[in-house]
Amino acid sequence: GSEKIIPKIRRLDQSVVNRIAAGEVVQRPVSAVKELVENSLDAGSTSISVVVKDGGMKLIQVTDNGHGIRFDDLPILCERHTTSKLSTYEDLQTVKSMGFRGEALASMTYVGHVTVTTITEGRLHGYRVSYRDGVMEHDPKPCAAVKGTQITVENLFYNMLARKKSLQNSNDDYTKIVDLISRFAIHNIHVSFSCRKHGANRADVHTIAACTKFDSIRSVFGVSVSHDILEITASDDNPDRSVFKLNGFVSNANYIAKKTTMVLFINDRLVECTALKRAIEVVYSATLPKASKPFIYMTIQLPHEHVDVNIHPTKREVSFLNQENIISTIQNAVETKLMNSNSILSKEIAV
Ligand code: ADP
Ligand code: MG
Repeated sequence: GSEKIIPKIRRLDQSVVNRIAAGEVVQRPVSAVKELVENSLDAGSTSISVVVKDGGMKLIQVTDNGHGIRFDDLPILCERHTTSKLSTYEDLQTVKSMGFRGEALASMTYVGHVTVTTITEGRLHGYRVSYRDGVMEHDPKPCAAVKGTQITVENLFYNMLARKKSLQNSNDDYTKIVDLISRFAIHNIHVSFSCRKHGANRADVHTIAACTKFDSIRSVFGVSVSHDILEITASDDNPDRSVFKLNGFVSNANYIAKKTTMVLFINDRLVECTALKRAIEVVYSATLPKASKPFIYMTIQLPHEHVDVNIHPTKREVSFLNQENIISTIQNAVETKLMNSNSILSKEIAV
């Protein structure tokens, strides 16, 4: 009969559901690193070090000196939707931490092997425990520990063969990881960061806490970049509304690069905003037609309730209220800055 050709609907196994979702949160090694470093920042760390083997496919290890994880929380630490950062839906509007949905660690346990070592203040020893598919593989084992948390993720995508194959060029992801840590480092100047390949004695990113943003840009992106950047600030045209505040650095006419570097933090979250990036590129090509693609580091503060942080599983793109107005205010600020500096430059040349 005709019943045969109608496909039957079945409920997917929870483990299948979890692995599919996990593949969205952890798209590649660099996404795991981002989640781990954000957790370390959320834990109030002042020192974060990252070690990577085989572009992150073999090993990602993030060590911090943050507040650690309670012993009692270890059993549910890597379950999906367990978090210390959010309790009601309304909290999403005001949440200041970078994490909020309790999915990152869980996801990593569905697509890799996760081991957590952690100690909380006042304890004589820490605990170490490994996780698979959201649950502990054994009881936490007491171990020596100094302060904070170390999380290792091994054999990423061991159970997702297509993903594993497509990510075989591991150098590519190491470059992305170095770039990511560089971005965190220039923004979080109270934190010292390091990032190196497993077995290497030299770190590829290394910053010391408590320098200025300018110093950290110089140490991370190089002396030549630091020579060619201008400090920029902007805020709402209407001072009593004062809903938006911007500061950062943008490159001048002498800066040379093949592609745009845009480091954007909105309310201290590292995010992308394609519309803003394009808008600034337009200003550069109109104001400095001979200049190369720009370097931009911007931090934008907005009322927390104006930013929607929950539009993407990786939390990477955000949208915010009055986006068009704010973008055009920023365009004006960049244009004014570039025109002023350009006229200073050409006067210097004329003299
Ligand atoms: P989220 O960050 O969205 O809460 P995660 O899965 O990333 O979800 O982490 C779950 C919980 O584990 C966090 O809410 C936090 O309490 C704890 N945690 C994770 N990493 C660390 C860390 N490095 N230091 C202290 N606590 C951590
Ligand atoms: Mg998190």
